[in-house]
Amino acid sequence: MRFKDFKYQRPSLERYKEQISDLLAAFTDESTLEEEVKAIRKSFEIEDTLDTILGIASVRHTIDTKDEFYRAEKDFADENMPLFQEQSQALLMKIYNSRNREGLEAEFGELLFKQVELQLKTFKPEIIEELQQENKLSSEYDVLKASAEIKFDGNTYNLSGMGKFTTDKDRETRHKASLAVSNWYAENETRLDEIYDGLVKVRNRIAKKLGYENFIQLGYDRLGRSDYDYRDVKRYRDQIFDSVVPLVKRLIERKGKRIQINDMKSYDLNLSFLSGNPTPKGDSKWQLNHAKDMYSEMSEQTKAFIEMMTEKELLDLDTKPGKQGGGYCTFFPDYDAPFIFANFNGTSHDVDVLTHEAGHAFQVYLSKDQIPSYRWPTLEAAEIASMSMEFLAWPWINKFFIEDTDKYKFSHLAGAISFLPYGVAVDEFQHAIYENPELTPEQRKSTWREIEKKYLPFKDYDDDKFLERGGFWFRQGHIFAAPFYYIDYTLAQVVAFQYWIKAQENHQQALSEYIDLCKLGGSKSFVELVKTANLKVPFDDGVVSRIITPIKNYLDSVDDMEL
Ligand code: ZN
Repeated sequence: MRFKDFKYQRPSLERYKEQISDLLAAFTDESTLEEEVKAIRKSFEIEDTLDTILGIASVRHTIDTKDEFYRAEKDFADENMPLFQEQSQALLMKIYNSRNREGLEAEFGELLFKQVELQLKTFKPEIIEELQQENKLSSEYDVLKASAEIKFDGNTYNLSGMGKFTTDKDRETRHKASLAVSNWYAENETRLDEIYDGLVKVRNRIAKKLGYENFIQLGYDRLGRSDYDYRDVKRYRDQIFDSVVPLVKRLIERKGKRIQINDMKSYDLNLSFLSGNPTPKGDSKWQLNHAKDMYSEMSEQTKAFIEMMTEKELLDLDTKPGKQGGGYCTFFPDYDAPFIFANFNGTSHDVDVLTHEAGHAFQVYLSKDQIPSYRWPTLEAAEIASMSMEFLAWPWINKFFIEDTDKYKFSHLAGAISFLPYGVAVDEFQHAIYENPELTPEQRKSTWREIEKKYLPFKDYDDDKFLERGGFWFRQGHIFAAPFYYIDYTLAQVVAFQYWIKAQENHQQALSEYIDLCKLGGSKSFVELVKTANLKVPFDDGVVSRIITPIKNYLDSVDDMEL
């Protein structure tokens, strides 16, 4: 069955209540382990069906945000999810307090109970109204951004569509395109400030109601982080500041020489080569065909995976009006089907989607038979699968980039390193915001600008007054929709670098270790997964510096002036 044939029918809260109450009845003072295991397995099926149905609505809404039907269904989900959650919460409580706890832990693993504990801590029926508000504000941010129509060079583009102009070879085009994007955010500044202020305040209220001091620990708990805390993350950010920021400064100096600009401005940072950034040498169909060849040659598992994805039409790659920006991967449990969403725009980013999002999809495909809450790991571990696949694709990357292959490899690695300071800046910003939820919009912007100057000292905004005032973070959707998530990309990147290092030595071995990690899904927590996969944990002192050394050496060995 193809994606377009997947059936959508609005889920019934009443029916769900009945199903859950049937299961609740299985937990009594006399229920046996066997009965409880059976009820829990049944609850997994119910959960999978609900996830599938909500996922279908959400994906179809993001493909066309102007479609009235799925917009209404998305609104329905935003409003009613907390009510569904209230029901499943009652069941979780029973499971958590079961008299057969030991037997259940043996059956499903201890992690499930840690996850349940976090879910019980982070949700109480008293916060339903606030959760609804939070969902609504967060969706409003997405819809507002998707509505952007930017006039440029005689055409109209959405925000994703502007991407290619901000990396144009011509400096004036880059400059004007960056200003046009900035202007759109400046025009919507008041509403964006209101949305974010609403989000920060409602999250702070939720935290207080749940008994937290502020939103920070709640943010960590929501992300299911069970084996590290804000102190580990702070130590890690310090490592990035000490070891990576100086390296990135040097990379930008090299870039300035390469593109013959000695007064590098923020709008120059996206261009890597005077002859233009590496680009894939064909359209989305052409690229998808090469992706098929690549995954077919890579391994038996990746071959079966890509055949299934294309046969069932589980990829929506082209950018079009009304389509939500960005890219993601999701999974429909009832169809055993991952789904990849992207906005191809002719840049090398398109290929990153076919490796990155495909990495996510491949991981969930390999762990589809895990219990629902072990199918995906926590988000920082999920990104290991995607970012490592970007590196494991290197031996085939010439299929896409032809004469630009060396350029791509250099800028892929340099870009991954250069991303780290920005990633931790976004994290430090959010810690500052939720520690001080009463900051005004102006204070928030100046806080951002200060942190930006610490981690990204080379960012010169030139005549862009909006960004100079500290408005850059408006474009980082994670700050609105998924607080504290962003650092996960950097943690995963540092882990993924280790696969790059391993693959340099022995690709076959690296790939097989990677596949073993993917199969574990989320059956272990982040630090445990990393250790089990024979990788170094980024929080540990000195790890960041040790991992980036071979990468720095590789980059040093490339004569980038020749690229
Ligand atoms: Zn990802």
